[in-house]
Amino acid sequence: MAEPTFEGLIEGLEQYLEALRDQGVQRVEVDRAVLEELAREPEPEVEPAMLVVEAAPIPAAFTTLDAIAAHIAQCRNCGLCQERTRTVPGEGNGDGPDILFVGEGPGADEDAQGRPFVGKAGKLLDKMIDAMGYRREEVFIANVVKCRPPGNRKPLREEMELCLPYLRQQIRLIRPKVIVGLGGTAMEGLLGQPVSITRMRGIWQEYAGIRLMPTFHPSYLLRDPSKKKEAWLDLQAVLAELGREPPARK
Ligand code: SF4
Repeated sequence: MAEPTFEGLIEGLEQYLEALRDQGVQRVEVDRAVLEELAREPEPEVEPAMLVVEAAPIPAAFTTLDAIAAHIAQCRNCGLCQERTRTVPGEGNGDGPDILFVGEGPGADEDAQGRPFVGKAGKLLDKMIDAMGYRREEVFIANVVKCRPPGNRKPLREEMELCLPYLRQQIRLIRPKVIVGLGGTAMEGLLGQPVSITRMRGIWQEYAGIRLMPTFHPSYLLRDPSKKKEAWLDLQAVLAELGREPPARK
């Protein structure tokens, strides 16, 4: 089954509300976060950036995460360099963490701060990490592309391919026990082929010899909270792989 589009979800929601109204229902409870998400001004549609490879080769082997971040800060290997404010190399425990979370790319908040997952989706990711019994600084969080795609569009396949050497080298240095791929685009970037996250989620994959669990992106979970149950099953599978159990609910 194809992943539903945002427009499709809105249309379905309208039909559902109309059906309720026809049945005489006059009031429905709606989560404030959902209302805020729906009220958000849509980002203007933009044409995907042209590739502007400036042939600055990525060194074959960085020896530190800081060296990778410094190289990323100067990188102009794809068109995403043109509109970025700050590069977002990733952050967290770079010394053998249990988990590396990988998203698709920075959004507006991340672009402004130079840190991954710091907006609304990041707050939900923090909750997911907390529910698993970790603190944010105990895991590593990164993206496939290190510069914000304009208008929060999906990164192009070419952009992901050009940026992926950085993530590969980060993984080599970080040595995570498990990788969690957040959303279909991140999984597409990692695996190099189109992915239906609704079909693939929960099914173990492998990346660079490391177990890789695909699950929904927190942004998608904000738009469709009913999917949180499935995401939690995926995260529980990750904990089982690590020989851990989720902490008792506070
Ligand atoms: S997205 Fe990656 S490859 Fe493109 S300019 Fe930024 S750091 Fe370089």
